[in-house]
Amino acid sequence: MEAEEIRKVGVVGAGTMGNGIAQVFAGAGFAVTLVEVDRAALDRGLATIRRNLDRAVDKGRLEPAAREAALAGIAPSLSLEDLSRCDLVVEAAVEQLPVKIDVFRRLDALCRHEAVLASNTSSISVTTLGAGTRRPGQVVGMHFFNPVPVMALVEVVRGELTSDATMGLVQQLAERLGKTPVAVNDYPGFVSNRVLMPMINEAIYCLMEGVAQREAIDTVMHLGMNHPLGPLQLADLIGLDVCLQVMEVLHRGFGDSKYRPCPLLHRMVEAGHLGRKSGRGFYEYGT
Ligand code: NAD
Repeated sequence: MEAEEIRKVGVVGAGTMGNGIAQVFAGAGFAVTLVEVDRAALDRGLATIRRNLDRAVDKGRLEPAAREAALAGIAPSLSLEDLSRCDLVVEAAVEQLPVKIDVFRRLDALCRHEAVLASNTSSISVTTLGAGTRRPGQVVGMHFFNPVPVMALVEVVRGELTSDATMGLVQQLAERLGKTPVAVNDYPGFVSNRVLMPMINEAIYCLMEGVAQREAIDTVMHLGMNHPLGPLQLADLIGLDVCLQVMEVLHRGFGDSKYRPCPLLHRMVEAGHLGRKSGRGFYEYGT
C-alpha cells in the first residue's frame, strides 16, 4: 500500500495521546475512527479535541470551516470492529504489554490484509507487538510527542521484521501531517526516552541526595542548557508513573545498572504523587 492510498485511519485510545493523534489526522483530511473502551474517556477525548480546535480558531490559526471539517472527520466508537476497513490504525492505549498484545491480535484478525498497524508506544518493543500478528512487516512504531498537535517530531520505529515499504509509508504520512519523521531502530526507549529519561532520573537522584533543591535543579537545566522546562517540571508533566515504567523498561532491556530507577521516584509513585495529573509530584498543582 502507498502513502497516498491511505484514507481511513483508526486510532485506539482517546487519552492524552490518542485524542491528539485523532485531531492531527482529521485536520489533515483523513477519515478517522476513534475507539475507546471507556465511554467517559471517549467523551473527554472528544471534548479535548473540540477545545483545542476552538482555541486555534480563536487565535486566528484555523478557519471555522476547517474546525468543522476536522470534527466531522472523527467518528467516535466503543468497538474495535469499527476499524475493519481502515488503511492504518494507530494504537494509543495504555502502556501495558498484555493490553497492547491483545489489541494487535484483534486488529490483525479484523483489519484488511494490506492495512498497516502502528503503535504510539513509548517503550514497548515493536518487534514483540509485530510477532503476535500475521503481518509483522506491516507493524511499526509511530511515536508522537505530547501535545501531539504542537510537537513536530514523530519517531518512526522499525521493528526487527518491519518492512522498508512500511517504514517509508509511515514517514511519508508523518510528513503529510506536517511533522518531521525520524527513523530509529527498536531498542529499549528508542532514542527519545533512552536519552531523556536517564536525565530525568539523574535529576531525581540529585534531589534525593540533597545536591540541590527542586527549583535549583530545574533552573540549572532551564537556564544553563536552555531546556524549556527543568527535568523535575518535565517529569511532573509526563507523569511519574510513566517515567518509572520507562526506566524499568530500560533497566530490564539493557540489564545495565546505570538505568536503575531512583528510589525517590519509586517512593513518589507508591505514594500516588504522579505529577500534574494527581495534583502533586515534585511540585504542587491546584485542581
Ligand atoms: P492515557 O492513559 O491518557 O490514555 C490511554 C487510553 O486508552 C485510556 O483512555 C484508556 O481508556 C484507553 N484504552 C485502554 N485500553 C484500551 C483498549 N483495549 N482499546 C481502546 N482504548 C483503550 O495514556 P496516554 O498518555 O495517552 O498514552 C497512550 C500511549 O501513548 C502509551 O503507549 C504511552 O506510552 C504513549 N505515549 C505517551 C506520551 C505522553 O506524554 N503521555 C507520549 C508519547 C507516547
